[in-house]
Amino acid sequence: MDGKELAARARLEVAREVEELGLPIGLATVLVGEDPASALYVKRKREACAEVGIESIHRELGADTSEEELLALVEELNGEERVTGILVQLPLPEHVDEDRVIRAIAPAKDVDGFHPVSAGYLFQGRPTFVAATPSGIMELLDAYEIPLEGAQAVVIGRSNIVGKPMALLLLGRNATVTMCHSRTRDLPATVRAADVVVAAVGRPDTVTREMVKPGATVVDVGINRVDGKVVGDVAEDVREVAGYLTPVPGGVGPMTIASLLRNTVRAARYQGAHLAFPRG
Ligand code: NDP
Repeated sequence: MDGKELAARARLEVAREVEELGLPIGLATVLVGEDPASALYVKRKREACAEVGIESIHRELGADTSEEELLALVEELNGEERVTGILVQLPLPEHVDEDRVIRAIAPAKDVDGFHPVSAGYLFQGRPTFVAATPSGIMELLDAYEIPLEGAQAVVIGRSNIVGKPMALLLLGRNATVTMCHSRTRDLPATVRAADVVVAAVGRPDTVTREMVKPGATVVDVGINRVDGKVVGDVAEDVREVAGYLTPVPGGVGPMTIASLLRNTVRAARYQGAHLAFPRG
């Protein structure tokens, strides 16, 4: 499954939507500290914004920034009219309570979908903002017309930003979902029964050829560095048995950014009252 090509198409669609909407759209990106991977992710997100006509408002803070300073910045961005969406790049330095910072973001500007309000609406099946990685994966599965209704889906990994929302989205599409994690007793047998497998672990070769049912769809979310090379969670030879497989890089990653852009447009619709943000 070619995420790169699909994401390029999605960006064109978003650019058209931005133009038609005619609303000011501004994404605030907040980067704390000097983690090179985080800096690269933010750079890519800002470039994508520029490409589709979304203004990007960037704030960079030192690694020694206090939690209170960061909360004050988020509060300021919440109140700024030209900021229609807010993204605080994770991870934050250890002395900062990440959850508290995320909770400070106005729910109607929470383009990452990590705020408990966004998670709650997803849980109830009436999503506002869905985390970009799982929502990009859904777009990929739909583009390739992967049948989900009644399918056996296995999600490996249960983080709040990938595994859990992924499982809820698949459940929302009437898949029969099994969630696996580090204490799962028999991962190979569980995966072997799946029509759709999503691996979001962060460990190379978590899914091997023997574990995959022939013809199954395998989505590789993992990003791991092995001998200077970026690899996913799925072993290379899985391609010999899988019906569909996402490459790393070039699969889920580009779709994640495309979904962030879609969320950012959605946020602008909420701010511009083109879309009502649900109450309670
Ligand atoms: P987390 O570290 O938060 O979660 C990893 C999950 O994997 C945990 O639930 C953990 O279980 C589970 N796990 C660990 N070891 C095993 C094992 N041996 N068998 C089964 N499950 C296991 O990671 P994230 O969800 O944040 O990210 C997962 C991967 O996806 C990472 O490589 C990350 O870099 C990548 N990623 C890629 C994105 C993209 O755009 N392509 C975006 C976001 C993430 P337990 O809960 O029991 O500890």
